[in-house]
Amino acid sequence: MNIQGIQKLTLIDYPGKVACTLFTGGCNFRCPFCHNAGLVIKPDASEVIAEEEIMSFLKKRINLLDGVCISGGEPLLQKDIVRFIGEIKNLGFCVKIDTNGAFPQQLKELVESGNIDFVAMDIKNSPSDYVKTVGIDDHFLPAIQGSVEYLKSGVIDFEFRTTAVKQFHTNKNFEEMGEWIKGPHTKWYLQNFCDSGNIIGEGLSGFERFELESILDVMKKYVPQSELREIR
Ligand code: SF4
Repeated sequence: MNIQGIQKLTLIDYPGKVACTLFTGGCNFRCPFCHNAGLVIKPDASEVIAEEEIMSFLKKRINLLDGVCISGGEPLLQKDIVRFIGEIKNLGFCVKIDTNGAFPQQLKELVESGNIDFVAMDIKNSPSDYVKTVGIDDHFLPAIQGSVEYLKSGVIDFEFRTTAVKQFHTNKNFEEMGEWIKGPHTKWYLQNFCDSGNIIGEGLSGFERFELESILDVMKKYVPQSELREIR
């Protein structure tokens, strides 16, 4: 496992749980608004944290933390993710994974292992504008659609979430997105873009509060469980 960061305590990353977050190195996308540019663009530049160190940390947190969030980068790029999560689960933690949805087979394998409790999947944009939002030109859209349909089937507790960026999203995008992801199990969270100073692109901005409210009104027509999530 290529783990390059640990946030030892988070009350935000895993809804309803006191958790820690592990950050995996590397990603197949290059979203211009990505705030983990170092992990994505130069995954070899940072030190990999030894698995023994991570497991030792987690053992000390048994009964202190409820859950472990695996984020990135893109965690499903890791070849041994199923084994690794199984070992975390064996310690008694709930496990959540953050994914960009580009690896539906790995996602399915992980869910079927029974060792994952919650999936948070990014919905970067409506299908028609997905390519420009993830910064690569590739035939990944069928894979994204596969993950969306798989999660919508209700096999596991999940959420979709979107980082809203003024340069990439219009109300029309959200109309299309709502139609795409709606379903009886769907929950969707709107996150406003905020420049962390460590992003991949440049010249990007988030929306004003009234604009976010307007986006929420659009999405609620399709996904009643749509909410604005305040970012750190
Ligand atoms: S935002 Fe997520 S999917 Fe996009 S480049 Fe960053 S880590 Fe990868």
